[in-house]
Amino acid sequence: MLDLFATPRLRELAPRVTTFLEEEIIPFEQEWMQMPFTEVEKIIRAKKPKVQAIGAWNLYHAKHHGGPGLNLVEVAQISELLGRTPFGHFTFNCQAPDAGNIELLFQYASPAMREKYLEPLLAGELRSCFSMTEPEFAGSNPVLMGTTAVRDGDHYIINGHKWFTSSADGAALAIVMAVTNPEAASPYMRASMILVPTDAEGFELVRNVPVMGHPGSGWASHGEIRYTNVRVPVSNLLGPEGAGFKLAQERLGPGRIHHCMRWIGVCERAFDLMCRRAATRELGNGVFLGEKQMVQNFIAESRAEIDAARLMVLHAAGKMQEMGQHAAAAEISTIKFFAANVLQRVIDRAVQVHGALGVTDDTILSYYYREERGARIYDGPDEAHKSSLARKILKNYGLSIRNN
Ligand SMILES: Cc1cc2nc3c(=O)[nH]c(=O)nc-3n(C[C@H](O)[C@H](O)[C@H](O)COP(=O)(O)OP(=O)(O)OC[C@H]3O[C@@H](n4cnc5c(N)ncnc54)[C@H](O)[C@@H]3O)c2cc1C
Repeated sequence: MLDLFATPRLRELAPRVTTFLEEEIIPFEQEWMQMPFTEVEKIIRAKKPKVQAIGAWNLYHAKHHGGPGLNLVEVAQISELLGRTPFGHFTFNCQAPDAGNIELLFQYASPAMREKYLEPLLAGELRSCFSMTEPEFAGSNPVLMGTTAVRDGDHYIINGHKWFTSSADGAALAIVMAVTNPEAASPYMRASMILVPTDAEGFELVRNVPVMGHPGSGWASHGEIRYTNVRVPVSNLLGPEGAGFKLAQERLGPGRIHHCMRWIGVCERAFDLMCRRAATRELGNGVFLGEKQMVQNFIAESRAEIDAARLMVLHAAGKMQEMGQHAAAAEISTIKFFAANVLQRVIDRAVQVHGALGVTDDTILSYYYREERGARIYDGPDEAHKSSLARKILKNYGLSIRNN
């Protein structure tokens, strides 16, 4: 954590969080990664009283959610700490996609839905998922969508096909993006967010989509889902009809800060492992890996890139906090592709320095290498963010480029 951005309450909270992770989570993560998620979930959830005792349950959430009420810049720095282990965010009940869904439900759900879903989510008793991307349409242009929700009296009838609905396996509810207003002039006003219980008739989890040879399960899954004549009450609509993309933007801005800082936590973990290996692996004749200039180059470049990425993300978080999401749009695009690429370079270098060990499951590196490749794709691929940033810049030079 950078002292420059530390606040008194963060200085107090951060060491407690770090100690908890070092004592209760990191020593067990390799073992947990070999176990079915449902078992790991039980072990982690049993730690809830201890997490509450250090004042860190629902870490991202406001005080009225039972969280410590941190601001975005503080949350960002905590997210880095939690990113040092794949189980960090889950242990503190601030994992994606639940954290974003909790905010949506808090703002837009009916009192009955809050009681049924929001309260158990905050208590860590339920999980949720967010279902927008579809295999048949380019997700980087999300207004392209085949899923529809058609009014039938007091109900919506939902039909569609989604995939990469992360954490769908075992989730109690999905927040589904579906076209409700196909006639709206703006494509951004055609879709709505609707809460769908996963036990609703017609909700079918077809499979957990395997990612790089790993099927994933539970929270760590990516579901392919068919919605066939799923009937839900109109009161399950979140926000106004046609406001789905507006709500998605509200959810994505802080979400990108959380992800980017989590990636910096991953980078620090990989960096630490890389340096330890470089300092201790002997190549023969008393020469250690770290004495080789090419390995020193890996270390120096990684240090500089991680530090640069952290400053950029905290700057974006500060701007969003002070001036709102719209004002920070360029910064958000910048960090989304920049931090994701730093992440991938740092993990790759750490794997390389470990040699064959780096590609085994004996260290956390291979998990990160596989799992974090998606960072350059989800929440907008690199190219979409670069293009968006360049368009904003070129507009200042008098060139207006149509969003296509
Ligand atoms: C690990 C992971 C988790 C995910 N979790 C969820 C989730 O929980 N819920 C959900 O709804 N979705 C989720 N997604 C889906 C994700 O949002 C989409 O994959 C993403 O929006 C890209 O859409 P696509 O895969 O259809 O790629 P496409 O839109 O088909 O794009 C393919 C490629 O085209 C290129 N491209 C795209 N736009 C441009 C451009 N403007 N200029 C130049 N090149 C471009 C990029 O290289 C891009 O990778 C997840 C994805 C991953 C990998």
